[in-house]
Amino acid sequence: MAKVIIIGAGGVGTVVAYKCAQNPEVFTEIVLASRTKSKCDAIAKAIGKPNITTDSVDADSVDQLKALFERHKPQLVINVALPYQDLTIMEACLACGVNYLDTANYEPKDVAHFEYSWQWAYREKFEKAGLTAILGCGFDPGVSGVFTAYAAKHYFDAMETLDIVDCNAGDHGKAFATNFNPEINIREITQNGRYWQDGEWVTTKPLEFHQPLTYPNIGPRESYLLYHEELESLVQNFPTIKRARFWMTFGQEYLTHLRVIQNIGMARIDEVDYNGTKIVPLQFLKAVLPNPQDLGENYHGETSIGCRISGVGKDGKPLTYYIYNNCSHEEAYKETGMQAVSYTTGVPAMIGAMMFLTGKWNKPGVHNVEEFDPDPFMAQLSVQGLPWHEVVNGDLEL
Ligand code: NDP
Repeated sequence: MAKVIIIGAGGVGTVVAYKCAQNPEVFTEIVLASRTKSKCDAIAKAIGKPNITTDSVDADSVDQLKALFERHKPQLVINVALPYQDLTIMEACLACGVNYLDTANYEPKDVAHFEYSWQWAYREKFEKAGLTAILGCGFDPGVSGVFTAYAAKHYFDAMETLDIVDCNAGDHGKAFATNFNPEINIREITQNGRYWQDGEWVTTKPLEFHQPLTYPNIGPRESYLLYHEELESLVQNFPTIKRARFWMTFGQEYLTHLRVIQNIGMARIDEVDYNGTKIVPLQFLKAVLPNPQDLGENYHGETSIGCRISGVGKDGKPLTYYIYNNCSHEEAYKETGMQAVSYTTGVPAMIGAMMFLTGKWNKPGVHNVEEFDPDPFMAQLSVQGLPWHEVVNGDLEL
């Protein structure tokens, strides 16, 4: 018997709600709460199961969150609102004795900067309260960390290089759209790049390094080096890694639009005065861009996300290892009404919640996913719609 609250009724929240509802033996009661209750009601209606109820909350307010948790008394909150709300939700969890899971690390609204330190600062408080917080349990971060832990457990004596490779080869038919929240997405991509090399971070200009990488069932796609949050925890948890990088594919059309958006000031996150009203250009842009939740219907093609790792194998010999999942936009849409980017984030969030509620990932404190046993999570990935594949001693291209 377990009751969960899902906070956030966007693309990812929709998938989490569908997937929890598909596993009623674990998730006996589901509350979907967000800023706009009508969105929660529409999702609950589409799922059509009696064990889903809805509520509204402004997750920027610890008091409102506490009242929500007191009303429903959940065991776990699955936070799939925006990264801005991570700390208020963690505070309310501590106040009400609720366990916590999210898919993106905290980011202050006024600085486009993300790192784990803000959330890791809660480690002792969660430990003392006997509560578990699972950080970054989407696909990347999320499955990327579980894949790495699985490689370390079953294949490597010492991992030396790690490249997380994220390709979206889908086509939604729009000139420009982002696959998840546009504000968060554009903030992430327009930052400097960063990778780990021999014990320190090397900073690059935004999208400075790129090369074609070949993705299974897709072919070569230009891939750009970005900073991504899971690199921070992975190099700490697997200290033999000498070089860790993250690559993401972008099409030329996307990059041209992004350059124009930046050049004309629409990616700014500071307030500007418009006819006496203060507006943040990037937030205004979000209001006029296509809603990522509406892309699914005409989305074709697939995503391919994985880890390419080299090092010394369990037998003491050099080893390369590539583990990945491909996910079809059409299949994701048929099942949940959302495209593959929301699907590949929401399914792992549900599995992480399942791991906690079934006692497999129950460890008081604040933890990144790679700190838990990867095996039961990996077993569920295949069952819940994200099958994975391995290539041993293939060409990593990197
Ligand atoms: P959306 O913008 O589609 O949805 C966000 C939801 O959160 C909306 O329902 C929104 O409500 C709600 N929300 C925003 N602010 C508040 C608030 N103050 N109180 C209550 N609810 C609020 O985003 P996505 O679904 O695309 O993404 C959700 C999360 O998933 C993000 O944190 C994103 O970074 C993360 N993500 C992680 C990935 C991974 O692989 N790890 C990949 C993709 C996304 P309203 O509708 O009223 O605005």
